Amino acid sequence: MTATGRMLLISGPSGTGKSTICRRLLEDDRVVFSISATTRQPRPGEVNGVHYHFLSREEFRAKIKEGAFLEYADVYGNLYGTLRAPMDEAIAKGLIYLVEIDVQGALQLLTLGVDGLYIFIAPPDPGTLRERLSGRGTETPEVLERRLQKAEDESRESHRYDHIVVNDDLERALQEVRTLVGLNGSPAS
Ligand code: ADP
Ligand code: 5GP
Repeated sequence: MTATGRMLLISGPSGTGKSTICRRLLEDDRVVFSISATTRQPRPGEVNGVHYHFLSREEFRAKIKEGAFLEYADVYGNLYGTLRAPMDEAIAKGLIYLVEIDVQGALQLLTLGVDGLYIFIAPPDPGTLRERLSGRGTETPEVLERRLQKAEDESRESHRYDHIVVNDDLERALQEVRTLVGLNGSPAS
C-alpha cells in the first residue's frame, strides 16, 4: 500500500513510546506533525510555531468560537487544542498528518468521527512500562504511580482504535506502524 494523505493518530498511555515513535516517523518527509495550540506559557527553549502555537486565552477562545479546533481540552488549567486547518492542508497535499495525543483527546476525535488511522501504542506489559517511565527520569514516584494507574484505565479503551501496536522492540513496532499507514514504499512510489 502506498501512503496517501490522511491523519495518523498515535496515542496511548504515558511512557509507552509515543514520542519516540513519532520522532522516527517524522524522518520521512511524507509525514508532518500536528502542532497543537495552547494557552500555557512557553518553557525555556520552546519556540512558537514549532513546539506549540502559544496563544492568549482570548485568542484561544476566539478560535473555539470560529470552530478552528478539531478538539480541545483543559489540562491542569491550560487549554490545548488540535487545529483543523493545517490538517486539511496537509492531507490535501497527500501528506500523512501525524497527531500525537493523549487517550482523552483521541477518544474525542474518535467520537466525533474524524477520519484517519487510529493507533494505540501499548507497552509489552505493566512491568516494562514502569521501567520505561522510571528510566525516563521525568516523574516523581507519586506521579509515576498515578500514570501507571491511568495507563490501566486507558488500556481498557484500546479496542476502540483501528490497531493496537505493542512497542516491544522499537524497530519492529515502527515497521508495523509504517506498514499500517503505507509508508513502506519509497517516497516516489
Ligand atoms: P511517551 O511519549 O509515550 O510518554 P516516550 O517516547 O517518552 O513515551 O518513551 C518513554 C521511555 O521509553 C523513553 O525513555 C524512551 O527512550 C523509552 N522507549 C521507547 N520505546 C522503547 C522501546 N521499544 N524499548 C525500550 N525503551 C523504549
Ligand atoms: P505539556 O504542557 O506538558 O506540553 O502537555 C500537557 C498535556 O497536554 C499532555 O498530556 C498532552 O498530551 C496534552 N496536549 C497537548 N496538546 C494537546 C491537544 O492538542 N489536545 C489535547 N486534548 N491535549 C493536548
